[in-house]
Amino acid sequence: MATIFANDFQDMPYWWEAAPRQPLTHSDLPRTVDVAVIGSGYTGLNAALQTARGGRSTLVLEKDLTGYGCSSRNGGQAGTSYKPKFDRLAKRFGEQTALLMVQEGHRALAYLKHLIAEEQLDCDWNPCGRFIGVHSKGAFDKMAREYAKTPQEIAFEYHMVPKSEQSSEIGSDLFKGGCVLPAHGSIHPGKYHLELLNRVIDAGAMVADLCPVKSIERRSDSFRLQTDRGTVDATDVVLATNGYTDQQFAWHDQRILPIGSFQIATEVLSEDLIAALIPKTRVISDTRLIGNYFRLSPDYKRLLFGGRVTFTEASSTSGSETLYKQMVTVYPQLADIKVAYAWVGYVAYTTDISPHLGVQDNLYYAMGYCGSGITLSSYFGMKVGQKVLGSSEGNTALDGLPFKPWPKIIKFPGVLSSVTRLARVAESMGF
Ligand SMILES: Cc1cc2nc3c(=O)[nH]c(=O)nc-3n(C[C@H](O)[C@H](O)[C@H](O)COP(=O)(O)OP(=O)(O)OC[C@H]3O[C@@H](n4cnc5c(N)ncnc54)[C@H](O)[C@@H]3O)c2cc1C
Repeated sequence: MATIFANDFQDMPYWWEAAPRQPLTHSDLPRTVDVAVIGSGYTGLNAALQTARGGRSTLVLEKDLTGYGCSSRNGGQAGTSYKPKFDRLAKRFGEQTALLMVQEGHRALAYLKHLIAEEQLDCDWNPCGRFIGVHSKGAFDKMAREYAKTPQEIAFEYHMVPKSEQSSEIGSDLFKGGCVLPAHGSIHPGKYHLELLNRVIDAGAMVADLCPVKSIERRSDSFRLQTDRGTVDATDVVLATNGYTDQQFAWHDQRILPIGSFQIATEVLSEDLIAALIPKTRVISDTRLIGNYFRLSPDYKRLLFGGRVTFTEASSTSGSETLYKQMVTVYPQLADIKVAYAWVGYVAYTTDISPHLGVQDNLYYAMGYCGSGITLSSYFGMKVGQKVLGSSEGNTALDGLPFKPWPKIIKFPGVLSSVTRLARVAESMGF
């Protein structure tokens, strides 16, 4: 079989071309700080921006190069992102609380748009809207019914697109119609991350890359963090490690299931082909549990195609074969097109498909965005920073939401086959 990979194929995120991950200049770590933030993704940086601007000496510690986790690897599709359904939340928490919880997703998208505009973040923000494709007429009717009965307090702009009009949205016959959410948009995730990093440094925070936190010890009125570059005492600590949470953070690790999310970027395509694939340059996703998400590159030259290929370990290149087949199923016209970039990152699933934030044993945290966290991690990172400052502005509708551990049988790979594991995860989350 002919290779799917281009001659100049690169096993790295496409985003790193325009926003490379570069080592920072190293200086000695401070002995003491007011706030240590563990993890330099969107959660950590948004928290650090608050604490540094709030007058607290702030140190961001990153295991790898900055933004090495999901925050420089994602699909760049920005939406309201809060996944639990209103009906289920209302049954469990009552209608009023459920409305407030769902509204957090709306606030998260508004916050991201505001942040980009206010801070003048050069990150290719495109208010392009989203098309969500469905795979059957029944799914189309169900979606239309569900959207129509959305309570006014959490209503959002949308319009249904029947199969007969679908070609104006996507050059594919796979879907049986779908809907458009005009408020959603796209960013260049790597540029967004670097711009945020610069704002955090400008705010006076110190950022230390290649500096994993090995352990945390609770002392009477502070924490002692052990790193390869010495110990740091911090009055407050924010854990912002999401799908990259290590076992030394046992309480959080038990509650986070890391799942590989894969992406490929095609070689440069002709202008005609690009115009036919996604005529309105929208971001696209579907409604399947293991679905796909795709979009054009910000320069409108490539298709970027992603999905959750497997629940077991896979390399970016082995994952690409599966993803490539999925891409050609959506777009048979891409059958001869080569893959120029492939990469994988680890998203963080929680048992209730909701993010969680708060304080556990005096340690602040925000995590668990379940694969859809550009807006949520930015917003909840900002909120957790406000919590550290002791501001009531940091209160959210998700405060106090029980954060349950995953059953051991799901948490440990290899115990179950990937298919059984997937079924158990889906069952556990109520799909
Ligand atoms: C392929 C892919 C596609 C995605 N597509 C989308 C999308 O289109 N839209 C969307 O909304 N979301 C998407 N996401 C999800 C989104 O990227 C994440 O939800 C978001 O970036 C999470 O940010 P974070 O800061 O919480 O975590 P991360 O960005 O993962 O950062 C965690 C950081 O913690 C560091 N760390 C871990 N342990 C330690 C330690 N001991 N010491 C120091 N540092 C440590 C890690 O190295 C890492 O850099 C995607 C994710 C992936 C992987």
